[in-house]
Amino acid sequence: MIVYCATTNPGKLREFRLAAERLGYKIAIAPLPEMASIPPVEETGETFKENAIQKAIYYSAHAPGPLFADDSGLEVDALKGEPGVRSARFAGEGATDEANNRLVLEKMRGVAQRTARFVCVIALAEKGRLLATFHGVVEGEILEEPRGPNGFGYDPLFYYQPFGCSFGEVSGERKLLVSHRGQALGRLLKFLSDRPARNRKA
Ligand code: IMP
Repeated sequence: MIVYCATTNPGKLREFRLAAERLGYKIAIAPLPEMASIPPVEETGETFKENAIQKAIYYSAHAPGPLFADDSGLEVDALKGEPGVRSARFAGEGATDEANNRLVLEKMRGVAQRTARFVCVIALAEKGRLLATFHGVVEGEILEEPRGPNGFGYDPLFYYQPFGCSFGEVSGERKLLVSHRGQALGRLLKFLSDRPARNRKA
């Protein structure tokens, strides 16, 4: 089975594929063909779920089979949930990961309450129709400076207590075992692999 993925973020696609492989599902994750030539949908939602649904419905109309889109980001409690849905553009439209990280560190300077979480919502759609949504959350703390060369986005700032280090200091594989994206993808893959059985019963 092939499921298409609407993302232009190579870091995310890599993680999705690795997770599918490690979870042992015989489901191939392919990038949406010619996504660059499709006018991008505006992310106007106020929640991860709204944005994921918007993207999945829109891009699935251009896909030859079922397609999923995700929306994810970092919620910092002391920043009232920011950067949240603005995680990719916290320091401005087109901002680099480094600039976004610098801004979070600046806003968190001297703040003792450092709890935060990564959230991921995946929406699955087919031919412009929503089929289901899947959630994943992982709790951590914001470090005072970046640590580790791995991952992407806010990974070097995200201290994960059970590992005793940041997500920037672990392999992609280890991160996926616990990450918001790994959890949401695991739920999606289970749904897809259960689907034929469900259809047979109907
Ligand atoms: P999206 O592409 O609109 O879902 O934006 C996701 C943004 O949230 C990314 O550009 C990162 O800044 C941040 N983000 C989401 N997931 C992760 C993660 O696993 N590690 C680090 N940053 C993440």
